[in-house]
Amino acid sequence: MTATVNQDRLWDSLMRLAEIGATAKGGVRRISLSDEDRRARDLFCGWAREAGCEIRIDAIGNIFARRPGRNPDAAPVLTGSHIDSQPQGGKFDGAFGVMAGLEVVRALNDAGIETEAPIEIVDWTDEEGARFAAGCIGSGVFSGYRGFDEAMALTDADGIRLADALDGIGYGGDAPVGGTPVSAYFEAHIEQGPVLEAKGLPIGAVTGAQGQRCFTVTVDGVDGHAGTLPMAKRQDAFVGTARMTVALSELAVSYEPAAVITIGHVRVQPNSRNTIPGRTIFTIDSRHPVSTVLEQMETDMTRICTDIADASGLTVDIKPVTRAEPVLFDQGCIDAIRDACRDRQIRYMDIYSGAGHDACKIAAVAPTGMIFVPCAGGISHNEMESARAEDLAIGAQVLLDAMLRYAG
Ligand SMILES: [Zn+2]
Repeated sequence: MTATVNQDRLWDSLMRLAEIGATAKGGVRRISLSDEDRRARDLFCGWAREAGCEIRIDAIGNIFARRPGRNPDAAPVLTGSHIDSQPQGGKFDGAFGVMAGLEVVRALNDAGIETEAPIEIVDWTDEEGARFAAGCIGSGVFSGYRGFDEAMALTDADGIRLADALDGIGYGGDAPVGGTPVSAYFEAHIEQGPVLEAKGLPIGAVTGAQGQRCFTVTVDGVDGHAGTLPMAKRQDAFVGTARMTVALSELAVSYEPAAVITIGHVRVQPNSRNTIPGRTIFTIDSRHPVSTVLEQMETDMTRICTDIADASGLTVDIKPVTRAEPVLFDQGCIDAIRDACRDRQIRYMDIYSGAGHDACKIAAVAPTGMIFVPCAGGISHNEMESARAEDLAIGAQVLLDAMLRYAG
């Protein structure tokens, strides 16, 4: 029993979806729960209904399009991703996973295949976190990672509550969020990194996603006159911060290839051109796929910042702010993806995800796997994001084959 995806149809659907919120530079701006998000949701629901699916919308706005199986009581095999985007995002991040799910259903229809278990395509609400400063909201509530009331009370920069934004686009549904069994969840996604392209491979079988630890660091020195205080007498918080930044960056390199450390936000106080900065507050984002290494990196980072502060007459305070453990995907799902590749003689490699995805949340409540396809230069969260139609079709085919192993 097999079915073949249609490369042109998948590409055309992606390109039509990309017209909603299209930007001048060839990307998309489809902020979560905006009018563009509503129009994209409407388009997806229309296509899914045309393909014979029943639409169900839950209370956090996740859309489920169900292709019935022979056994209506069987737990569905779920696939999908998100159709919201970054403010200056690309055509493929998230959108590919939802359109690949649609192509799976369409291809099964073409082949006249009825599965034992239902197949469902999901569009998770607000994966990007660009509007409500919290990513993976729909999948997070579905998996119990985030409370429903807490999510509904999130506000955007204009003070609009998520609950009101959801109502505003008419996608607050009445289905309960989560709590029903899913036999497996597969998410197809562009890699958003350079590995597959560099190796010339069309598929990555994703084994898991790296963990992340973020900190807010406050460095205290003493404000002083920029003209009168000799260099040797200064307790300059920004100079200390600069030393820490370089040392932390070198630390990440010493843990290569898998470790990354980013100091992405720095505030200098009093931020006056002729006052020696007495305080800085900066962020550290550290990531690694192995929990014990993340732990060791945290110990090293603390030591580095403390040593530099001590040597510079400064004090330092390091507060943990977020912490996500590395995610390991389900062995059965990973094998289904590998087997699907082998059966079709598609070259693949095992890979871990550098970014967070809805799948990382769903992995807590259902056997989960992810399929990566290459994107040009590894560029993502960028209007220039680009992927090849052939690779996307191979990804959708592997998705279909892997899902059939579970849907029967
Ligand atoms: Zn994404």
